[in-house]
Amino acid sequence: MKQNRKGLLLVVSGPAGVGKGTIDTALIERNPDMKMSISATTRNPRPGEIDGVHYFFKSSEEFERMIENDEFLEYMHVFNTNYYGTPRLFVEEELKSGHDVILEIDVQGAMKIRDSYPDAVLIFIAPPSMSELKARLIGRGTETADAVEKRYATAFDEMRYMDRYDYIVVNNVVDVAVCRVEAIIEAEKCRTVRSEALINRLLGGSEKP
Ligand code: 5GP
Repeated sequence: MKQNRKGLLLVVSGPAGVGKGTIDTALIERNPDMKMSISATTRNPRPGEIDGVHYFFKSSEEFERMIENDEFLEYMHVFNTNYYGTPRLFVEEELKSGHDVILEIDVQGAMKIRDSYPDAVLIFIAPPSMSELKARLIGRGTETADAVEKRYATAFDEMRYMDRYDYIVVNNVVDVAVCRVEAIIEAEKCRTVRSEALINRLLGGSEKP
C-alpha cells in the first residue's frame, strides 16, 4: 500500500562475515515495500555477481563523471583502488514515494549519510563474539590464513565505529536479528518527530471539542 509519509532511510553496516547481507535479503523478502539501494562500484564483478542486481559495475571514468554530476548520496574510494557509491536518484525517489530504503554500506559511508541525512537510522550488525566472527571468516574457506588475518583486522577496525550507530543488533540467529531490525523500524516510525501528519490529523480537524 502506498503511504503518504516519507520512507525511512536505513543504513546497515557491519564487518565482513557478520551476515548483514543475509539479514538485508530476508528483510526485503519479508517486506516487499522495502527497497535495497544498489551501489555503483569500479571493482570487478565476482563470479555470480550480476550488473544491476548486486552492483552497477562502472569504469573509473564513468564513476568519476557521476561524482562530477553529483549523482551520489555518498561515495568512497578504497585504498586508492576502487570506488563504491550510493546512487542518489533511486534513494530519493523511493523515500519520496513512502518506501523504506536500505543502504548496505561501510562505516565511513554511514558517517557521511548521518551528516547529510540526520533522519537516517543507523544499524550496526555485530557478531556474538570476536572469536565467532573469526570463525565465520575462516568458515568461508576460500582464503589463505594471511588473507583471513587481514579481513579480521579490517573487521576489527570497522567495529570501532559501532558506538556511533543508533542501534546495535547482534547476529546470532538470523531470524531473531531480522525481527529485531523490524522492531527498530516499527519503533522509529512511531517516533513523535515522524508523526507530525498524524498529530495534525487528530488535533487539527473540525472535530475539536
Ligand atoms: P564488497 O567489495 O565486498 O562487495 O564490499 C566492500 C565494502 O564496501 C563493504 O563493506 C560494503 O558494505 C561497502 N560498500 C558497498 N557499497 C557501498 C557504497 O555504496 N558506499 C560505501 N560507502 N560503501 C559501500
